[in-house]
Amino acid sequence: MRYRVLPECDPEVFEILQGESKRQNEGLELVPSENYASPAVLEALGTLMTNKYSEGTPGRRYYGGQMYTDRIESLAIERAKRLFNCDHATVQPLSGAASNLAVYSAWLELGDTVLAMDLSHGGHLTHGAPVTFAAKAYNFIRYKMKDVETGEIDYGQLEALAIEHRPKIVLAGFSSYPRQLDYARIAGIAEKVGAMAMADMAHIAGLIAGKALPNPLEHGFHVMTTTTHKTLRGPRGAMALSKGKPGNPLRAPEKTLENLPTLIDRAVFPGMQGGPHMNKIMAIAVALQEASTPEFQQYTAQILKNAKALAHRLMERGGKLITNGTDNHMMVLETMQSFNRNGQEIQEVLEKAGITLNKNVTPDDPLPPFKPSGVRLGTPSVTSRGMMEPEMQQIADWIMDVAGGKAEPEAVREEVRALCLTHPSPSGLVEP
Ligand SMILES: *Cc1c(COP(=O)(O)O)cnc(C)c1O
Repeated sequence: MRYRVLPECDPEVFEILQGESKRQNEGLELVPSENYASPAVLEALGTLMTNKYSEGTPGRRYYGGQMYTDRIESLAIERAKRLFNCDHATVQPLSGAASNLAVYSAWLELGDTVLAMDLSHGGHLTHGAPVTFAAKAYNFIRYKMKDVETGEIDYGQLEALAIEHRPKIVLAGFSSYPRQLDYARIAGIAEKVGAMAMADMAHIAGLIAGKALPNPLEHGFHVMTTTTHKTLRGPRGAMALSKGKPGNPLRAPEKTLENLPTLIDRAVFPGMQGGPHMNKIMAIAVALQEASTPEFQQYTAQILKNAKALAHRLMERGGKLITNGTDNHMMVLETMQSFNRNGQEIQEVLEKAGITLNKNVTPDDPLPPFKPSGVRLGTPSVTSRGMMEPEMQQIADWIMDVAGGKAEPEAVREEVRALCLTHPSPSGLVEP
């Protein structure tokens, strides 16, 4: 991407931008929550749409001058509804965390109970980790895997906990769980105890949009929250998608499942947020259009094939993966068992080799979160660069060689750079 104004107006900032651009282009990005937004998404983000205040929803705003903001937000909403097959979409949440908090506050009273996945078994911080505000406001209880070797969820425990604690929300969703969930079964349990079924699909919304994985909203779930910047490949942002009847958000409706769209709209604004970020909403609209193409479906199918190839080779080389494989785009490598080194050490040595991933806790990890027993990695970004199964095999070998002390990170760094230069980042290279 060519920049004309920034290099002259603010060379200090431009120099930082160029450094990050070089880092993104010359290294391998394996953090499974990251991706490369397209030039069209980046262009939309960098527009004058950022100038406008538009509190409210399309057609019901608090300030004038909303002809175009109404059009762009309505377009994003319509595209989201079509792509995810739901009745309503809220595209204003500023991030995944904000989106989850909005749904909690839309449906729960302070002190109400939520049944969610245990953090170390794959759940997310925003699903009630003790350090969060949500954990102070609501009562979280947790289900786990039944067997960490297969990754199967303990549905019996899930049901027993639901019957015992009568949660108001049963929450499915994860950020470090490499297997599939039985959505119909979880939704059935929620229905049995009169709970709302909420899916946090932040990591896999792109895979759902591309029809590589099932859509929880088509299997009994009432609400699905997601970020827009992970597998969906849009700008940093989030959405809350729901079933129900959209109503007038200027009036407080009764707390019924049918009123979820209005309850969530009101929880986002004025409940939690001020003015929406219209440049981001415009970029979400662009990303949703990209995600509805046959090329995107091919892309998501390839993400899964690449993850299988990467996992297979890591295990063939003696790596220990949590659940012994993957059904989605990510995997968790148990580094203590594989290399007798903690996740922080492996993250650091791989970064020297130009391979970026993140340290991650393993199920019931005896080590602390800052030096946990594993690392998490995935294939969305490398697949966006057009890499296929042969490259996955090569990447797995580099990881096993460097982490196992069989190769010098600096030497591998050169090989990584050579591969990266033949697979440019779709976000482009920053040039003056
Ligand atoms: C990434 C993620 C979030 C948080 O998203 P942010 O945009 O970082 O706030 C929430 N839930 C899950 C499952 C995630 O993976």
